[in-house]
Amino acid sequence: MKFDIVTIFPRMVGALLSEGLIARAAERGILDVAVHDLRSFARDRRRTVDDVPYGGGPGMVMKPEPFVRAARHLRRHRGAPDAVVLMSPQGAPLTHAEAVRLSGLNHVVLLCGRYEGVDERVREHVATEELSIGDYVVSGGELPALVVVEAVARLVPGVVGDAESVRADSFTRNLLDWPHYTRPADLDGCRVPEVLVSGNHAEIRRWRKRAAVRRTIERRPDLLRHSVLDEEEREILQDLQGPGQARKAGAGI
Ligand code: SAM
Repeated sequence: MKFDIVTIFPRMVGALLSEGLIARAAERGILDVAVHDLRSFARDRRRTVDDVPYGGGPGMVMKPEPFVRAARHLRRHRGAPDAVVLMSPQGAPLTHAEAVRLSGLNHVVLLCGRYEGVDERVREHVATEELSIGDYVVSGGELPALVVVEAVARLVPGVVGDAESVRADSFTRNLLDWPHYTRPADLDGCRVPEVLVSGNHAEIRRWRKRAAVRRTIERRPDLLRHSVLDEEEREILQDLQGPGQARKAGAGI
């Protein structure tokens, strides 16, 4: 899968992409993530990418032309993208379902705004969609774009070594993940749950399922309506919640 990130801070983005899962997937040829300096698409000597807002008011607005040229350049040199995503707090919320949808595409371009935002004509004529990472505002689209790359890349086959770990991740089945422990078994008197060191794999599996269902009930009961539960998890839900509530959860897998 191919990502192109357009930003005025290419080094900031590049630094975070140069290590970890994404870097390893890129080395293995599973991902191709390129970062492009928006300023290189400005035409003046000072490489200007922003200007004062029409109508007055505070701050600066990102000019449309560098984005238009960047999009044309990418189309010519990296191929026609399946989606051009403008990072924006006003966009559709990035959810697991959105990440799944994007992971089915071959080529995604991510446009990062700064300042007061991007000239509206970029949203209308360059972007094909807008995505938000949550109901809060950060100072630029760089971290949001990286969040999209991370969330989507995890779902691309081969990026995460063990596909089973993605399946158990929170939200994959609208169920929160179970608690994880590692050595030491005793941390100054705080012991790992006994079942996890028992070696009884059936018991461990059931404990984990119960912990995941309990956590979801306690922390994110809203997810349960869309949870995809197996028979055992449905029984656990019924046990923890009562039969009436359990019926509202999603169908078994
Ligand atoms: N004035 C804008 C508004 O209230 O909608 C916010 C501009 S913000 C300071 C600058 C840039 O950061 C945006 O153009 C966008 O690219 C990015 N950004 C900020 N918050 C974001 C969020 N929650 N999701 C995605 N991008 C965001």
